[in-house]
Amino acid sequence: MLEQAKDDLILVTGAGGFIGGHLVADLRRKGFTNIRAVDIKPLEHWYQRFDDVENITADLRLRDACFAAAKDARCIFNLAADMGGMGFIETHKAECMISVLINTHMLMAARAAGTERFFYSSSACVYAGYKQNDPNVTALKEEDAYPADAEDGYGWEKLFSERMCRHFMEDYGLTCRVARFHNVYGPYGTFDGGREKAPAAISRKVAQAKLTGRHEIEIWGDGHQTRSFMYIDDCLEGIYRITDSGIEYPINLGSAELVSINQLVDIVEEIAGVKLKRIYKLDAPQGVRGRNSDNTRIKAELGWEPSTPLREGMEKTYRWIFDELKAGRTDSVFTRDTIPAAAA
Ligand code: NAD
Repeated sequence: MLEQAKDDLILVTGAGGFIGGHLVADLRRKGFTNIRAVDIKPLEHWYQRFDDVENITADLRLRDACFAAAKDARCIFNLAADMGGMGFIETHKAECMISVLINTHMLMAARAAGTERFFYSSSACVYAGYKQNDPNVTALKEEDAYPADAEDGYGWEKLFSERMCRHFMEDYGLTCRVARFHNVYGPYGTFDGGREKAPAAISRKVAQAKLTGRHEIEIWGDGHQTRSFMYIDDCLEGIYRITDSGIEYPINLGSAELVSINQLVDIVEEIAGVKLKRIYKLDAPQGVRGRNSDNTRIKAELGWEPSTPLREGMEKTYRWIFDELKAGRTDSVFTRDTIPAAAA
């Protein structure tokens, strides 16, 4: 997969993060020898880091940093964003929207560098809120992003940046490919500190209960809210396939296996071999009531869709988080407060 020459310069932004780290690791495994990895975080806080990769710490909200990062890059995977789970995006709307600087400057830099392919990671948070009020969801189709009523802050920024990709493609001929990720999970990602998403948060809470013997779990909301969750391996496969494709519109990249948060807790309890007393925190941030990915288009376009069973992916995710906690490691050391203000 990925029809670039193995020695073409490939840029991954957000490479110190969850998906970016896995992408760099996988590109290396696929034999790519010329990878540039950029993230705002100091290198010691990257989830995955490799000595044979050009690793750069830079703030990509800044134009010059984007131009330096994109120089000579044949293919760009633009994953950098100030983001997190519902607990973060509902309370940091301005910061989420400032990621528009990253996407604007990266597109300008890609154009100037003559980049052949530009991949942008959008999100299911672009979908209209009024389509997601019922836990018995009808899965979201690509056209359900309009008339727009995106997740305030984070979702609007993603929707705007999607459109910017489209116009850079139409007006400047930059080949852009955009995927709308639906909840990605797996090892080597955020599991504490306030930015973690449900699969990691629940794994952490169950692992903590197991390690401390305190058999309780706090659940945000009433647990009946529904979601689908895509394992990281499927996400990477989808990124390559979409990047190589002729798909010129934002397309869903998500699992269609819908579960409630209560069912997700059941799965993790079963993996861990515990049964916990559930305490529902009804005033906690919980996002839309129900959300699933309609995969009609991706199946028609690519003859493929994410297929890792949730139970299988959660097993690997839970084991990694359990081992991290058991070893006394947390990933909350690098908080948003340590990110310098953009272009202050
Ligand atoms: P992540 O937070 O682990 O990774 C994003 C990385 O971007 C972080 O390491 C962060 O330090 C970096 N970053 C933030 N601001 C930066 C800046 N100014 N300059 C350089 N780097 C900066 O998140 P992730 O889960 O790996 O997400 C990757 C992409 O996928 C993001 O664009 C995100 O919005 C999108 N996405 C993710 C999910 C998901 O479920 N994980 C869902 C939808 C969309």
